[in-house]
Amino acid sequence: MHMDGRTCVITGAGRGIGRGIAEHLGREGANVVVNYRSSAESAESACETIRREGGDAIASQADVTDIVEVEAMREEAHDAFGSVDVLVNNAGITKDTRFVKMSREDWDMVMDVNLGGMFNCTKTFYDDIWEAKEGRLINISSIVGKQGNFGQANYAAAKAGMFGFTRTIAIELASGGSTANCVAPGFTRTDMLESVPEDVKERIVSQIPLGRFAEIEDIAAIVRFLASEQSSYITGEVIDANGGMDL
Ligand code: NAP
Repeated sequence: MHMDGRTCVITGAGRGIGRGIAEHLGREGANVVVNYRSSAESAESACETIRREGGDAIASQADVTDIVEVEAMREEAHDAFGSVDVLVNNAGITKDTRFVKMSREDWDMVMDVNLGGMFNCTKTFYDDIWEAKEGRLINISSIVGKQGNFGQANYAAAKAGMFGFTRTIAIELASGGSTANCVAPGFTRTDMLESVPEDVKERIVSQIPLGRFAEIEDIAAIVRFLASEQSSYITGEVIDANGGMDL
């Protein structure tokens, strides 16, 4: 299996894309730290699935905006599996409204989770990734970071910020042999997409050349590849998975 014995921390892995990534890596033999903030039950059930399918897993509660909680998660990860090889910064939120109505609070909340959380987790696990044989940092950005989107100035700014951060960390990690990359999903069928009004979803899907939203598995498979040793020569990249929306 491609991930045998590798230890992976996935933030926001109780549900949605994060859960899909955790279960996919687990199926490939990884030890998975399933981070969650509020979805405890679902995080435990993800762990059960992983154990049933050949990997090992623990659920670990931490709000990624709180570095003390993230440091405690690192302790839990080390106690369970030893040093961490792969960090996937997946936790993210939206707080959508057109810019004229956007408050400073809407802006700060999105920055705090999407960028601040990425900072806290990368800071905390950086030494592990540096010291790992072929360590991996994988950040889940979005097509919205490249194209912008009506009502998402805060989210688009945060997701675009992930690109510059990832490239910089890729440069800084390179001499140690570890890599950093982004995945930029298009619109993917999760709770986040469910919150979008039906008429807007119809308009979006009509603009996707492949004619459908992404499934969670479409994104998880890319992360699995980036997390494995098969991707050794790819660093500082953004892998788009958007059904051709940017063609
Ligand atoms: P989702 O279904 O809304 O789930 C969000 C996840 O983030 C949950 O697991 C949630 O944990 C976690 N989270 C939120 N705030 C957190 C915090 N402070 N600390 C720890 N975890 C936190 O979202 P999704 O669609 O799976 O999206 C996952 C990632 O993909 C996000 O970064 C999102 O921006 C990105 N993305 C999504 C789409 C899409 O169309 N769905 C497209 C492009 C990119 P709890 O449930 O435990 O609170």
